[in-house]
Amino acid sequence: MKNENCIFCKIANGEIPSKTLYEDDLFRVILDLGPATKGHALILPKEHFANLYELPDDTAARAMILAKKMAALMKDRLGCDGLNVIQNNGETAGQTVFHFHMHLIPRYEDDGQKIGWEPGKPKEEELEEIRKRIVC
Ligand code: 5GP
Ligand code: ZN
Repeated sequence: MKNENCIFCKIANGEIPSKTLYEDDLFRVILDLGPATKGHALILPKEHFANLYELPDDTAARAMILAKKMAALMKDRLGCDGLNVIQNNGETAGQTVFHFHMHLIPRYEDDGQKIGWEPGKPKEEELEEIRKRIVC
């Protein structure tokens, strides 16, 4: 299903042109228009899913296989020194376009980008309390 108001639906389905790196029945991979580094790409499903919570298992599996393929290709073609795979869900997590997408961000030793977080220092009891809430 497509969402008429969604820009990534239009890009993924070719209604809006993009710098396409790869396309198949389920996905389009494009260059990000506001790249963090040279070669920053986005994996977009052609169907509209707002986020990871909505993504069907088979699409999720194919997305990760595609991320792996593109990462290898980008390493080979761009000669990057590393690569971040990032996927934001919800405004609080930095999501700005509410159509599921994965960022593939090639990293270069001198790229000057900081992608990361300040590590916390939880007590053992805090870790255990969180573990109990999530464990499945
Ligand atoms: P988010 O913050 O939702 O995880 O990532 C959205 C990404 O989409 C950003 O990196 C932004 O630069 C990119 N973006 C937003 N609009 C467009 C667009 O129209 N075309 C392309 N190629 N990228 C876009
Ligand atoms: Zn969409």
